[in-house]
Amino acid sequence: MSTLLVLDFDGVICDSVEECYESSREARFRLRGGAGPVPEPPADGLAAFARMRPFVRNGEDFLVMLDAAERGVPVPDQAAFDALAAGIGPKVLRDFKARFYDARERLLAEERSRWLRMNRIFPHARAALLAAGGAGLPLAILSTKRSPYILEILSSNGIPFSAEHVHHTTGPKAPVVRELLAASGCGNAVFIDDQIDYLLGLDDPRIEGRLASWGYVRPEWLVPPLRVRPIDPDGLAALVVSLGGRP
Ligand SMILES: [Mg+2]
Repeated sequence: MSTLLVLDFDGVICDSVEECYESSREARFRLRGGAGPVPEPPADGLAAFARMRPFVRNGEDFLVMLDAAERGVPVPDQAAFDALAAGIGPKVLRDFKARFYDARERLLAEERSRWLRMNRIFPHARAALLAAGGAGLPLAILSTKRSPYILEILSSNGIPFSAEHVHHTTGPKAPVVRELLAASGCGNAVFIDDQIDYLLGLDDPRIEGRLASWGYVRPEWLVPPLRVRPIDPDGLAALVVSLGGRP
């Protein structure tokens, strides 16, 4: 039986941290009543924001990142990040999230080429998608990013991908991967993500979770004792070939 390959999008296929930073800054500015142009960011703002990216699971988390990055709050682990989110509170986070998607929509509608430049496809992920897609391998994308954005970014980068194989979730991913496997008719699945919590939730022996080493990962996730087996860009290429992909 064949193997279903399930890929996360942000941090596995696409480096979108710059777009998330821009959308987050605009969203927070509007949330605080700001009108007109969004003020320029601090010089090291993007780098500080990017360092916290491994802890993000959903759109509202970007407010936690932005605030903590600017205040220089140390965030050693996921529990510390989640405590900061709890301190902000669900209503503010919900309001921020709505404005985050408004900002993303505005960027896409009014500054499309800039929006696409800020959503960069990893070259090795592009090669893997083309090799797998060209060979007709069973393939799915599972992301917390809404599907139309994913399809827009893929098609603008010359990567054909069927909308029916792009899936969106805001909850744990393990149950969704199980559903995708059941619907695929495949015997097993390899699920690649860069958020370790999604991979730690896998409890089905037919599904192998792999942590994308090139993604938004914490250094300690890649050294022993390993909680999830990592995969690097060469490993992804080899995996696709082993499943029958054509370079
Ligand atoms: Mg990710």
